[in-house]
Amino acid sequence: MTSQPHGGRLILTGMVLIDGTGGPPVHDASVVVEGDRIGAVVRGTEAVPGEPGDHVVHMPGFTVLPGLVDAHVHLLSNAGRHPQDVHLWNVVTPVEEQTLHAAANARKALAAGVTTLRDTAGSWPEVSVRNAVADGILDGPRILASGMVGMTAGHADMFAPAALRERLWQPADGADECRKRVREYARMGVDLVKICTSGGTLSVGDKTEWRNYTDAEVHAIVDEAHGLGLAVAAHAHTARGIRVALEAGIDTLEHGSGLDDELIELMLTAGTVLCPTLSISERMLTHGRALGLPAESIAKAEHLAPLRRAAVRRAYTSGVSIIAGTDSGNTLPFGAHARELQLLHDHVGMTPMEAIVAGTSAAANALGIGAETGTVESGKCADLLIVRGDPLADLTVLQNRENLATVLRAGVPFDPNASALIHLPSVPGEFAC
Ligand SMILES: [Zn+2]
Repeated sequence: MTSQPHGGRLILTGMVLIDGTGGPPVHDASVVVEGDRIGAVVRGTEAVPGEPGDHVVHMPGFTVLPGLVDAHVHLLSNAGRHPQDVHLWNVVTPVEEQTLHAAANARKALAAGVTTLRDTAGSWPEVSVRNAVADGILDGPRILASGMVGMTAGHADMFAPAALRERLWQPADGADECRKRVREYARMGVDLVKICTSGGTLSVGDKTEWRNYTDAEVHAIVDEAHGLGLAVAAHAHTARGIRVALEAGIDTLEHGSGLDDELIELMLTAGTVLCPTLSISERMLTHGRALGLPAESIAKAEHLAPLRRAAVRRAYTSGVSIIAGTDSGNTLPFGAHARELQLLHDHVGMTPMEAIVAGTSAAANALGIGAETGTVESGKCADLLIVRGDPLADLTVLQNRENLATVLRAGVPFDPNASALIHLPSVPGEFAC
């Protein structure tokens, strides 16, 4: 974290405010940061009553918006500068070393304007990084960590070569074992459970069409998770995988390539949220060969990408709530989180404002933390992103590091790099949200 402790409130004035609700932008807005919370949002030219000790920063030409939420990432991936074998890195690297990379990835996301991450394939390492960030000993966004529940030969299980006896996640088979795995994750303190109800693209040796789990197993996992207060995110590409997940009552659908009108109707009825992860498709198509991805993974991605885009467009025009998630991990390095908003605009047809909502309040609401973050409103956690320029006119403003003036996580300014445009004083307060 940057700068020296400061006694009073931090008052940021003269900015354009995009509050994350989808409402029109407000010019000449001011945001008052008191400790870790937003104390007040003042609209228009109305002056903020200053008090002795306040630190006022006038910021014309800048836009303030909620810190971004990336609802689909894999922290336990290589954060280094040199590309590694994206499949074998997790297998050949000690988990202690992987955990250090996870911490570095969290920091990279924060530096890119992300103040909340949902990890969608976790276990102890992700829970540990989450806790260390929450304790204030590591720089990083708020992290929601999931426990991965997958079957033998399921999408998650096929990330480790079959010849290895060690598994990246211990598979669970049969309704009873699935329930037990969920209970073990609850004991570990995860925030949610992740399941796979179809094969995947980056897994090797399986087919996207492979059934992942019987109906009974999916229902058992969702029932057990909900019974223990845990939300469920379901990875699914196929219509069958989507249907069983929706019928079991999952909370968010990941990818959703096989969505059709009937399934979209099911989503609307249940209020299920879609996290399409367009960024990973783009990455696999543009960089897959250079990264040395297996030919079968690239072929699967090439087959699914147009289907997914069409499905997400249909879901969007039908009114399904869509949230931003990149699938950052070994294949897509951390740091390019705002690219997903651009893809939601370019390929799905969202307006820039709708894309920003997908990456802020809609995502926070879908993750169950909408009361804490996702909008710039009085009383909320002071998770703020301040950029130079107008992201409504050009979403690439959010993607270029040079435009990121500063990121505040719970009121604490984070200096993404030595070239940060603005060095804000930190404000005292409990790091409680
Ligand atoms: Zn994923």
